[in-house]
Amino acid sequence: MKVLFIGPPGAGKGTQASRVSERLGIPHISTGDMFRHQVSTGTELGQRVDAIMKAGEYVPDELTVSMLRERMSEPDAEQGFILDGFPRTAGQVEALDGLIGEDGLDHVVVFEVNEDELVERLLARGRADDTDATVRNRFKVYQDQTAPLLEIYQGRGSLVDVDGIGPLDEVTDRILSALEARNAERVEQTAP
Ligand code: ADP
Repeated sequence: MKVLFIGPPGAGKGTQASRVSERLGIPHISTGDMFRHQVSTGTELGQRVDAIMKAGEYVPDELTVSMLRERMSEPDAEQGFILDGFPRTAGQVEALDGLIGEDGLDHVVVFEVNEDELVERLLARGRADDTDATVRNRFKVYQDQTAPLLEIYQGRGSLVDVDGIGPLDEVTDRILSALEARNAERVEQTAP
């Protein structure tokens, strides 16, 4: 199963992606985690992206896409994956289409969380890029560059809305049930 998790910063995508990936036995591919790893190990890429992340800006597509492309070529990604935080721009959608085709994603899970809850969560988390000013900029960048992607995936019929508020286990169960229900629908539609 090939799934994308999308939603504003702080929506809980990463936490849920790692839980769902464990339950489904498919890899969790997070460009945010990959970049943070580059930064913490001090690679050349890490040095280039550190300041960008701290400012709450997006890393240029060229760097993001080549890192993602490499990850997707590893054998464990062949059967399926949960993409978390990629694609985030129209250019990244195009790159992903080039890798897996326009109908390559089975489901696009959209996290619905209200903004006050989000800000509270982010400030409580205290990651290096979770300062007040950065958080505000990350929302703006999300609204400008990533929110429009929902329309693209809506048009392809792959969107699944999930309420991201509530206890962790409940949200995980909601996602798994939503995916199951959609898989069942698809089987029915393709049955002779
Ligand atoms: P969040 O969803 O809370 O913003 P992520 O871990 O997904 O957290 O991303 C953290 C930061 O990493 C982003 O603000 C951005 O600077 C960078 N980043 C991650 N994924 C991408 C991407 N697909 N394109 C550009 N920048 C990215």
